[in-house]
Amino acid sequence: AQERYTSIRETPTVTQDGARINLVMNAGLMADLPSLETSGAEGVGLFRTELQFLVRNKMPKRLELVTQYQRVLDAAGDKRVVFRTLDIGSDKVLPYMKHVAEPNPALGWRAIRVGLDKRGVMRMQLQALIRAANGRPLTVMFPFVAQAEEYREARWEVNKTIEREKRLGHALPETLEVGAMLETPSLAFAPQKFFDEVDFISIGGNDLKQFFFAADRENELVRRRYDSLNVSFLTFIESIVERCDISETPLSFCGEDAGRPVEALCLAAMGLRTLSMRPASIGPVKSLLLRSNLQEVRKIIADARHRGDQSVRPAVMEWLRNQA
Ligand code: PEP
Ligand code: MG
Repeated sequence: AQERYTSIRETPTVTQDGARINLVMNAGLMADLPSLETSGAEGVGLFRTELQFLVRNKMPKRLELVTQYQRVLDAAGDKRVVFRTLDIGSDKVLPYMKHVAEPNPALGWRAIRVGLDKRGVMRMQLQALIRAANGRPLTVMFPFVAQAEEYREARWEVNKTIEREKRLGHALPETLEVGAMLETPSLAFAPQKFFDEVDFISIGGNDLKQFFFAADRENELVRRRYDSLNVSFLTFIESIVERCDISETPLSFCGEDAGRPVEALCLAAMGLRTLSMRPASIGPVKSLLLRSNLQEVRKIIADARHRGDQSVRPAVMEWLRNQA
């Protein structure tokens, strides 16, 4: 199926009304790296570092991590890679780390919460990332930030690690960006100061949607119950775009919806300019964006809202059929 899109692989994604959309890919294992070339991805928008921890039976050593991250950066060349720090807990349990049984793991001790409570692991990973960058640009992103203070504490650890590496005589990253994933509704309502200080924000749509609708993403009984194109959810996404616009905070979206063409189209229409998805989705998403006028899609969405539609999907689908 990839072959169908080879003719547009190197084509920059510009919509009919001139919006430039960055299509980047999600990755996590070495096996994903060749897709950087074959998919036409402009970078890695989400590198899920926990996957390399999950496929092992003991905690990796720092040096092993350095080697792995180096290979990722080597493969990416000039393309930007967003390394997400360990996102464990909830559905991702490390067999070699003490597991605490929790009544609601998705709402429990996970991601940055684990990192802040287990600073040693966080520091080791940050050190490995800095050493792997070895003077090249480095982009780090913390998952599941629910309030500004968590981001600040994590960023403080990054700064500390940078100072330590400097003292030890290691090369520092040429540039350093530290971002936060917006995966809980709370962060969308953080004080303006947070939006001013964070280097970038990436919406983790899978988690954000599960918390927005209070519908477990792992539970077959409810996980498809609410449409991602639900007007309430899109309105919420739009409010995040507006907040980021005010502070000029770079914003991306990296949940599964970014890889679904119709969803990606609506996200772009709401103002998202960077979408991170599985490599195989880049062709189909690009193909639709190239043919579409976002202003028109915005109008369809606005009309659906005014009519009081529950989801904009029927209206957008009808518009797409009329386009063909
Ligand atoms: C998300 O929650 O949308 C996300 C990208 O992170 P993960 O799917 O790894 O939880
Ligand atoms: Mg998530």
